[in-house]
Amino acid sequence: MLPTESLLADFLILDQSIHGRRLVYLDNAATTQKPMSVLLTSRHYYEAINSNIHRGTHQLARAATESFENARKTVATYLNAASTDEVIFTSGTTAGINLVSNILALSGRLRAGDEILISALEHHSNIVPWQMLCERTGSVLKIIPCDDHGVLDQEAFSKILSSRTKVMALTWISNAFGTVNPVIEMTRAAKEMGALVLIDAAQSAAHLPTDVQALGADFLVFSGHKLYAPTGIGVLWGRAEILNDLPPFLGGGEMIKEVTFEKTTYNGLPFKYEAGTPNIEGAIALAAAIEYVNGIGVGAIHAHEMELIRSAAEGLSSIKGIHLYGPADRSGSLSFSIEGLHHYDIGTLMDQMGVAVRTGHHCCQPLMARFGITGTVRASFALYNTAEDVAALIAATEKAAGMLR
Ligand SMILES: *Cc1c(COP(=O)(O)O)cnc(C)c1O
Repeated sequence: MLPTESLLADFLILDQSIHGRRLVYLDNAATTQKPMSVLLTSRHYYEAINSNIHRGTHQLARAATESFENARKTVATYLNAASTDEVIFTSGTTAGINLVSNILALSGRLRAGDEILISALEHHSNIVPWQMLCERTGSVLKIIPCDDHGVLDQEAFSKILSSRTKVMALTWISNAFGTVNPVIEMTRAAKEMGALVLIDAAQSAAHLPTDVQALGADFLVFSGHKLYAPTGIGVLWGRAEILNDLPPFLGGGEMIKEVTFEKTTYNGLPFKYEAGTPNIEGAIALAAAIEYVNGIGVGAIHAHEMELIRSAAEGLSSIKGIHLYGPADRSGSLSFSIEGLHHYDIGTLMDQMGVAVRTGHHCCQPLMARFGITGTVRASFALYNTAEDVAALIAATEKAAGMLR
């Protein structure tokens, strides 16, 4: 049964009081806390091997390069990528989606009237770059709607999908409602229409096993900081035969083979998309975070979180006037509102009781508009949350509601 005492001891930040109460951290969909092994990895990097990577002839440069490239291997294995060439280090999910949308724009693959398909559940990061791409190419953004439980309407999806669909960009798990989308089936349908498929794995990477080969998509992006790693590091996985065909985006060091003032030839994958000095320490720390998760097992983590989220939903549902969003099998995040009360007021009072939740639109304004709300209160779970955390969440919500009524 997770989390064990020794596992909790890996997260020193959790052992503190907030406004005189034990900290109950339930804002994991925004960012997770980092275990000691990740912090020590970052520290060791700067204390022992800090150096710029590749091309170095000295010992530190070799050690840093080896750790960085080993980190790429760890990520490739975590994703079951066919090759390490398919793993591009980025600064995060947002950077990965913008990289893909920009190289698609530069490739000339999209024309006026082509369609880009996203869903009603998307984070602003998986909306705005596609709107910008539409503006540049004359393509049209199409939205897969969701039902009142925040579940995508598959019948509407099959009607919207057509040979005009050139790109589908879909979140695996909704950061707002915890909905888990049937990404394998939807990817297969979109691929049959000849579309390129990008999966936003920002919320799934820490909760569900990822197998990019079984998934069948062309691109997958996630952020390290939602997977127990530092901020400023993320991954774009892309199918090699597609990335090889697409143009580079940022120009500079590392991404070149040979530069003259007349003509530059480009480096191969993955370096073609890693211009400039990368976040070396971040990549190495991300590998340490993945090893930490692997040591527990992502399946065991998911089962633990599902138990917590189910009992939280059950406990909260008895509060007068509460409305829970998302389907019963939600994963990671649990969103709710209480009739007549503002989410911000509830969250502020909960903070006074030591319970850290997020309030607002969760970077999903179109989804909030679909439900006629400005925001929700969201509790989101990680491997270190406990049944006591769930009890504290329910008690704090109940108390806050009572104070505000
Ligand atoms: C957090 C999140 C993003 C954006 O991630 P960044 O780390 O801010 O780049 C995109 N999509 C989803 C589903 C997210 O949860």
